[in-house]
Amino acid sequence: MSAIHLQNLVKKFSDFTALKTMDLAIADGEFMALLGPSGCGKSTTMNMIAGMEEPTSGKILFGERDMEGVPMARRGVGFVFQNYAIFSHMSVRQNLAYGPKMRGAPKAEIDRRVGAIAEMLQLTPLLDRKADRLSVNILQRVAIGRSAIMEPAIFLLDEPLSNVDAAFRAVMRTELKQLQRQFRQTMVYVTHDQLEAMTMADRIAVMDHGVLQQVGTPLEVYNNPANVFVARFIGAPGMNLLRGRPAESDRGLVIDLGPLGVTPPLPAEIADAVRGAPGDVLYGFRPEQVTLAEGGRGLSLPVTFVERIGARTIVHLGQGESAVKAVFDNDVGLAIGLTAVVAPAVHSVRVFDAGTGRAIK
Ligand code: ATP
Repeated sequence: MSAIHLQNLVKKFSDFTALKTMDLAIADGEFMALLGPSGCGKSTTMNMIAGMEEPTSGKILFGERDMEGVPMARRGVGFVFQNYAIFSHMSVRQNLAYGPKMRGAPKAEIDRRVGAIAEMLQLTPLLDRKADRLSVNILQRVAIGRSAIMEPAIFLLDEPLSNVDAAFRAVMRTELKQLQRQFRQTMVYVTHDQLEAMTMADRIAVMDHGVLQQVGTPLEVYNNPANVFVARFIGAPGMNLLRGRPAESDRGLVIDLGPLGVTPPLPAEIADAVRGAPGDVLYGFRPEQVTLAEGGRGLSLPVTFVERIGARTIVHLGQGESAVKAVFDNDVGLAIGLTAVVAPAVHSVRVFDAGTGRAIK
């Protein structure tokens, strides 16, 4: 009943198409993140699931049930927005109790449920505090609690953590995941923050310009991006992509990167597919999956910038079309002006069609 199917979903605002055909199956009890840059259509999709917007065409099913014409209040969904919607003149307890009370739940049950949800969201000491005396962080926790207490089978969250501070966001990521594990709702979570999507979601639907780019587990979209948009968008920094042409060598198929020389041979499992590629390709590898090759084979590039973030070092190499980033867990002793020879881990290399942007294979 709580599975969600979006079928050929389209949303137009006058002559602007915000969502161009979305097909997505979200399983009962699944935590699905809708991830993408601002304006890609995440909230539009969410609003249609919630029943706040009508699709221009296409279908939304909850289980087998078509949601066309079913108003929000009858969809059985809980919804938390970026801007917490809570009653500022009420206490935390009254805010939490509001929904069950409206439904006519007995007082003893309301007390039990308020107690349980407050405990889970660490709101117990604040239950009698007036909402207008609380920080933004806590208000968002109350807003989540107020929706969660209704135990909706489908829980929709649209950027719920974007207004809270970074430390609190980290805590809330864990709490939201625990909340979902406990209640086993189907959760749809809109975010532009890949860290949120990667840490919480069972699967991520990556969107851009009103088009679903890829659906997969966090590791799938990280390791096997379907196209160059996903390759660049997922990961911080995103995947390195260098333009070149497949070329045969006595060691196997390599990519001729022009002035950068040739790559190490491609892994056998992708070489055959790349051999048949019609034109230029993009040679992709993750910044985290490189080693420094001392005098050995690799891409020889000048160091242009070094960022140290705690123990992590992000080294910027080359410029323009040859710009590459490499991430190391320690200080590798590189400085601006030196030349580094970096070797991508062979298993991590991915190749894309430079024309279509799609992953080859
Ligand atoms: P954000 O994180 O910025 O909200 P989003 O991915 O959630 O981004 P949407 O809010 O779904 O994006 O908007 C998708 C596109 O549709 C945007 O270009 C937006 O300007 C447009 N849009 C959304 N709602 C309307 C509306 N009511 N009328 C006209 N255009 C709209």
